[in-house]
Amino acid sequence: MPKFQRYANLGAVVLPFIAFLVAVPLLWNKAVGWVDLTILIVMYFITGLGITVGYHRLLTHRAFQTSKPVEYFFAIAGSMAVQGPPIAWVADHRLHHAHTDVEGDPHSPHLGEGSGLKGLWHAHTGWLMKTQGGAEFRKYAPDLCEDKGMRWISRNFLWFVGLSLLIPFVAGFVLHGFSLSAALWTLLWAGFVRIFFIHHVTWSINSVCHFFGRRRFDVEDKSTNVAWLALPTFGESWHHNHHAFPRSARQGLGRFEVDISAMVIWAMEKVGLAHNVVRISPERQKEKLVGATRPAKSPAAA
Ligand SMILES: [Zn+2]
Ligand SMILES: [Zn+2]
Repeated sequence: MPKFQRYANLGAVVLPFIAFLVAVPLLWNKAVGWVDLTILIVMYFITGLGITVGYHRLLTHRAFQTSKPVEYFFAIAGSMAVQGPPIAWVADHRLHHAHTDVEGDPHSPHLGEGSGLKGLWHAHTGWLMKTQGGAEFRKYAPDLCEDKGMRWISRNFLWFVGLSLLIPFVAGFVLHGFSLSAALWTLLWAGFVRIFFIHHVTWSINSVCHFFGRRRFDVEDKSTNVAWLALPTFGESWHHNHHAFPRSARQGLGRFEVDISAMVIWAMEKVGLAHNVVRISPERQKEKLVGATRPAKSPAAA
């Protein structure tokens, strides 16, 4: 990884963390208002779904199809989550699926650093200073590399990072009656603190969801389902289900496995914005359950 990229990534990790550390003590002294919290939540949804529905299910796994403008909208929304340009994110994530928890995985908690706390740190944040953006774009994201619009969005990633901060600032400025100082508070909460949350929630998929939690399918990696992360990750923490059926538009396969991203894709399908939505039949799911592959008793033995 080039030095400047390592420092840029370090800054992208540390700045929102400092903002979080500053904002929380401030919250104790002067409670944050509903205007700032609402902008934070709206921005969290836009950028979070940009990652889960856009970067992940649409661009990486092609779990559904949509029009080019909708693809670009999600690629821009995902860029505003400040996790790297779409082409780099998709290539890294496809590399993760190609070598899950074995040599070559860019962010497994079970490789290199050992399976303990060091491994968890590597999968959560450490990999951003080592292996992030290392997957060969032409090999792992040839479809995006051939797309002129996607190349443009990836090239202009930093502008969308700026937009991710400008939108809350302007919204705060207008909604607080054109007050510059109030707009700076909005920028702190709905800009930096929101980026802190979306970062760590997403990275929990790489760390927590390959370490703690439950498993039920016969897959060789160490992916897990983590129920308490289902709401903030918009359904991505049903990560073991996802590794069992990577192309499935729905990752919360069980009846009570809430999956907000799948609901969004479902709603998009209803209004004609998504088609060819990939669904996994109950039979296919059953066949992949642990123990389901044992040879059945032959009729002669019964
Ligand atoms: Zn994984
Ligand atoms: Zn995936």
